[in-house]
Amino acid sequence: MFDWIAFDADDTLWKNEEEYLHGRQVFLQILADYNINQDALERVDEFEVENIQYYGYGVMSFALSMIELAIELTGERIHPGDIRKLLNLAKAMLTAEVEMFDGVRQLLEEISKKYPLMLITKGDLFHQQRKLEESGLAGFFQAVEVVSDKTPEVYREILERHKIDPQRFIMVGNSLRSDVIPVLKLGAWAIYLSDHLTWSHEDDPLAEISQDRYREVKEISQVLNAVEALEN
Ligand SMILES: [Mg+2]
Repeated sequence: MFDWIAFDADDTLWKNEEEYLHGRQVFLQILADYNINQDALERVDEFEVENIQYYGYGVMSFALSMIELAIELTGERIHPGDIRKLLNLAKAMLTAEVEMFDGVRQLLEEISKKYPLMLITKGDLFHQQRKLEESGLAGFFQAVEVVSDKTPEVYREILERHKIDPQRFIMVGNSLRSDVIPVLKLGAWAIYLSDHLTWSHEDDPLAEISQDRYREVKEISQVLNAVEALEN
C-alpha cells in the first residue's frame, strides 16, 4: 500500500532540541551580568518565532534572535565580548556531535528493506547536510529534501516532483505542526513520535484533522510496527 516512507531528522533521528535548551541557558548566564533574569527565556522563543519570516529555521536564526534580544534587553549596552560569546555558542551548536536516538540505525536497516526512504528536514542547509553526513545514515535514504519550511505546499511540491501519490506516502516525525498536520491535509499518512523532546513552537492541536491516517508512537523503534498496522 505504501510506496514511500519519509522521515524528519531533528528530534526524530537525532537529538536537537537539547542543544537549544543548553543554548538558552548560556544566553541567560551571559545576560545575568546585566541583571536580566529568567523572564528573558520566554522572549527568546518570541523573537525566534517572529524572526522565522526573515531567517527561517535553524541555529543561525536562533543566534541572530539571541543577539537581537540581548541588544534590546540591555538597552544597547551589551558588550561586544558578550556578542562574541553568543556567536561562539552558535558555532558550537553548528559543530556539535550528532547524537542519534537509540534504535534509529536498526529501524532504518529493517524498514529500508521494505520501502524506499526519503529524508525531509528543515533548517540551515549546510548544517543539515553536515549532520546527515556525520550520522552515517545518508545511505539509507533514496532522496533527501532540505526545505525552508514544512507547509502543505512544500510537501505537495516534493510529492509531485517524485511522482508520489499522497495516499501511498507516510511521513514520520516529532512535530505535529511540521510533520503530521501538513501531510494529513494532503491526504497522506503520518506517524507522530510523541515522546521525543520538541520545541514548543512545533506543537499544534490536531483538532479538525482526520485521524484515520495517523498513528502516534512513543519511540522510533515502534515505527515499523505502526507502518504495518496502517497497512492493514
Ligand atoms: Mg523534528
